[in-house]
Amino acid sequence: MVTKNQLTVNREQANTESPSGTEVEEPPPSKMAVFGQQEEEPPSNKPHGRHRFFGHIADDAWSDWKWHFRNRITTVEELTRFIPLSPEEQAQLKVVTTRYPLSITPHYLSLINPDDPDDPIRKQAIPSILEVTMGMMGCEDPLEERRDAVVPGLVHRYPDRVLMVVTNLCPMLCRHCTRKREWRHGGWVRTADDIDAMLDYLRQNNNIRDVVISGGDPLTLSNHRLEDIISRVRGIAHIEIIRIGTRFPVVLPQRIDAELCAMLSRYGPIWLNTHFNHPRELTPEAAAACDRLLRSGVPVSNQSVLLRGVNDDLHTQMKLCHGLLRIKVRPYYLFQCDEVQGTEHLRTPVEVGLSIIEGMRGHTSGLAVPTFVVDLPDGGGKVPLQPNYMLTEAEEEILLRNYQGHVFHYRNPAYARNQRQKRRPRQALPTSTLFDFAQQQLETAGDRDANRAVVRP
Ligand code: SF4
Repeated sequence: MVTKNQLTVNREQANTESPSGTEVEEPPPSKMAVFGQQEEEPPSNKPHGRHRFFGHIADDAWSDWKWHFRNRITTVEELTRFIPLSPEEQAQLKVVTTRYPLSITPHYLSLINPDDPDDPIRKQAIPSILEVTMGMMGCEDPLEERRDAVVPGLVHRYPDRVLMVVTNLCPMLCRHCTRKREWRHGGWVRTADDIDAMLDYLRQNNNIRDVVISGGDPLTLSNHRLEDIISRVRGIAHIEIIRIGTRFPVVLPQRIDAELCAMLSRYGPIWLNTHFNHPRELTPEAAAACDRLLRSGVPVSNQSVLLRGVNDDLHTQMKLCHGLLRIKVRPYYLFQCDEVQGTEHLRTPVEVGLSIIEGMRGHTSGLAVPTFVVDLPDGGGKVPLQPNYMLTEAEEEILLRNYQGHVFHYRNPAYARNQRQKRRPRQALPTSTLFDFAQQQLETAGDRDANRAVVRP
């Protein structure tokens, strides 16, 4: 059992303006609405959840996000107070953390089953020696975000939207993070000059209608600082929507308090994308956080990452997506894990994602089925993948299969087909294999670059 004194390590203070003050909590959704930890673990007399490690922490502290932020677990020595690690494992983790540091919030740590080395929550939070032993695979920046930055921190890849990377700070360092390369540079927040340069670019490019504010995690900024950025983006007439990418609802849901929600509600439309990967992350605290956002006019969508040993099976994905819908969060994307150095051990073959989507489509409501996406290397952008339901295409009809494998003829309306043929003369059906045909259709690198918002010489 951990003593209170063991938790008084006073680290970097959360960048916050003021305490959450006179917050009036909305009644949280029923516990029946979310998946509790008990459901996934065998019955045990041992304390679980928060009470396993933090039963002595007062409710006031536990509901204060700054307490969680200050008390993140960031060293192997601290970790061993909670998770049994052999001397060999401790030595390995020390090697890993010199390259890829460690940070886990008490909330997220409380979800880990310390007795299970293959626990899916653990795999996302606790380093593995495979991060370095397989570290030669993949690359640091597979999505070429640095190359496509038009000013420091502003990535303009698609025609009508941009990504603002405002900090590299995160409450938890997820082992599968695409921006793992940033962890070695210490914590940083964009300077006022950097933010000014980003805003100038947005003002000068009136084709941009959608701004994604991300990081790191932008909710590590104080409300005051965040409001400064959001209000200035909202002040640009041609920006229609603002999106915030954050994992706080999952790893530190207490951050989504009344003060933050009140601020966000002043600058809508704001959409929030979060990152639940496993049904056990759908805690009552996370559900209450999403509920507060929704009641403030901020729709919440989920972008999960397909991870080996975490959520790479149909049952887990189905449970996750059903649980998301129960807390009114839309399952939006299921990402193939990017080719990032230090994540190879968590990556799955693309076929795994396809077979999960195959198992969901038609078997459950369409709203519960996320779009499976590969974010292409070299900055090629996102490509949705799904099982092939169109078997053949002929002049008058196409042949489709349904989710049960039954095959159906479908009459293709002649008018639409004729219109399409007028626009683009129909190509002869390929006599070569599908693969050869696909290769013939591949754009040249020049064509691809010409279609991107940023064209490099
Ligand atoms: S919260 Fe997002 S940006 Fe931060 S470490 Fe996790 S995956 Fe990476």
